Amino acid sequence: MWINVAGAGALGHLPMNGPISLVVLRRATRAASRGVREWRMIAKGLLSTRHPIDAHIIPIRRCNLSCAYCNEFDSFSKPVPTAEMLRRIDRLAALGTTIITISGGEPLLHSELDEIIRRIRRRGIIAGLITNGYLLTPERIARLNRAGLDHLQISIDNVMPDEVSKKSLKVLDKKLEMLAQYAEFHVNINSVLGSPVRNPEDALAVARRALSLGLTSTVGILHDGSGQLQALSQRQQQIFLEIMRMGKASYARLNDFQRKIALGKPNNWRCRAGSRYLYICEDGLVHYCSQQRGYPAIPLDEYTPAHLEHEFFTNKTCAPRCTVSCVQQVAMIDFWRGPQTRAAFKPAEPLVQLQSRAAER
Ligand code: SF4
Ligand code: SF4
Repeated sequence: MWINVAGAGALGHLPMNGPISLVVLRRATRAASRGVREWRMIAKGLLSTRHPIDAHIIPIRRCNLSCAYCNEFDSFSKPVPTAEMLRRIDRLAALGTTIITISGGEPLLHSELDEIIRRIRRRGIIAGLITNGYLLTPERIARLNRAGLDHLQISIDNVMPDEVSKKSLKVLDKKLEMLAQYAEFHVNINSVLGSPVRNPEDALAVARRALSLGLTSTVGILHDGSGQLQALSQRQQQIFLEIMRMGKASYARLNDFQRKIALGKPNNWRCRAGSRYLYICEDGLVHYCSQQRGYPAIPLDEYTPAHLEHEFFTNKTCAPRCTVSCVQQVAMIDFWRGPQTRAAFKPAEPLVQLQSRAAER
């Protein structure tokens, strides 16, 4: 979900110097229209609990990188056929979904990504994209502009590439400059903290660079293989809070949530995965989230309002120590209602082990 928790506002990436270009005017117009659609999305979410607010869809599981901490990619999968992706978007639209976020793997490896984004927008849904940014060029950014993309997010893990991650400021800085120059959509740069990150000061450098380019900035905590919390060191905690402050965060409840995560304390919240948030894998199955694949693993075609209703009231035992922030953001809309008293669906199969599937082929 695209709530700006730690960054400048939607108009924040207007350059402050130089002549106003066509890109700047388009960016401002689109930010205004996006703002109206986002308020509509929030109003719809407050008025009814019977539709998904945010669905993540995976058009390709393959990635051009191989970050050591990641369990969401492989090196061999083919793209999901575009016709099938469009069908899934139509199905999500029929369920009343208000945001669709395209994730992966690396979604820019899907050659018809523009068609997928276009269909999301045609169905009146807000379109987001999470990418590692490596494949961005001015031409690709122009294609994303034309397709109507609303939000793009890149996570940057360090300043210099290392054996854990190549998502580095050194490699991606040129891409950030390109986005600042050409993107008509909102761009957020997420810096990360947690045990896989060698130098926590890098997160500060990434956040400062993003803000200096007029992009927005958030900070996340890398979770373990089951989406669970690992306590931050004292210095990491200081940096976490500093980046949140830099971003002029304004959502008090979410800030409190994030602060507790940074301090290693459990959160008391109601995870609405399977209801207000859906994760649709490359095989078209609905899962709770990227870290709980296999639950409930029901084909999207067979997912009904009854499933949404069931999961809205289903208690998720992994919630107190969860760090999956997009699901936590979605949960804010309903935090004051709908106590969860139901037992979870029996999992269809164990948690998906992506790399082990390679050996099976
Ligand atoms: S770029 Fe993203 S999907 Fe690819 S390996 Fe790294 S974290 Fe995983
Ligand atoms: S609490 Fe929800 S979002 Fe977090 S790991 Fe569990 S199912 Fe996923």
